[in-house]
Amino acid sequence: MAELERTFVMVKPDGVQRGLVGEIISRFERRGLKIAAMKMLVVSDELAKQHYAEHASKPFFPGLVGFIKSGPVVAMVVEGKNVVPLVRSMLGATNPANSNPGTIRGDFALDTGRNVIHASDSPESAKREISLYFNTSEIATYSRIDEQWLYE
Ligand code: UDP
Repeated sequence: MAELERTFVMVKPDGVQRGLVGEIISRFERRGLKIAAMKMLVVSDELAKQHYAEHASKPFFPGLVGFIKSGPVVAMVVEGKNVVPLVRSMLGATNPANSNPGTIRGDFALDTGRNVIHASDSPESAKREISLYFNTSEIATYSRIDEQWLYE
């Protein structure tokens, strides 16, 4: 019934500073997704560089690392059917100028470097990013009471 696919989601420092954490979590909850783990933390320099390692050679990398460390973030493991592409669709395009209204970035962001939220782009990235931010013991196993009404 309830699928065990997982993704990693992070409300970035701009989302926390702008008071958007509750709104964003609500969107995932209302969609029917399960929050399996969640914490607020300030990302270290080392973790920021590991997280965004694929962008190490890009011109925006120093700015991105500096920004991601600049205040607390809220990291989450989110579970549900088809969750990786589903959550990416809920985020909208990387550049908010191209994000459709109704998406998180399309509703709350203006600039690529201040696009409020991160989510894994593939199941492999999800696995890697979850393990960067969470120990296995921090991820809860439970059922939502409405799962029989969410899954056929
Ligand atoms: N980014 C940026 N400038 C760029 C491209 C990306 O500041 O020209 C930032 C942006 O915050 C983005 C993050 O780097 O969310 C990671 O880029 P990616 O292409 O992986 O986009 P995402 O997966 O976050 O949509």
